[in-house]
Amino acid sequence: MKLSKCSRCNHQFKWKTIFNSLWSHNWNKTFINCSKCGTKHNLAPRSRFIPMLLLTTIFLFAIVINNLFVNDSFPFLLFFLIFINVYILITLVLPYLVNYEKINTNYLN
Ligand SMILES: [Zn+2]
Repeated sequence: MKLSKCSRCNHQFKWKTIFNSLWSHNWNKTFINCSKCGTKHNLAPRSRFIPMLLLTTIFLFAIVINNLFVNDSFPFLLFFLIFINVYILITLVLPYLVNYEKINTNYLN
């Protein structure tokens, strides 16, 4: 797994930069400016589906597990802790799964 790179100068974006981009903006404004050459990038359209797909899958999986296995010998608290851990893990791995592409600034202006 590798982090997304600048499409102009090949400078690799920092994990923290991608992470912040993913979680501090809405899905249409996930911009990253290359710290080396300043080229503006946006989350590739196909990459927008990855986080949503993953998180939806986890939620559906959690509901199924909850209905099938949670009983007196498998307390909900334990299930909840596992769920939270998986959720955090995916959140941490997400920056490696998404791609960024250069924005045509002429188009924006
Ligand atoms: Zn660059």
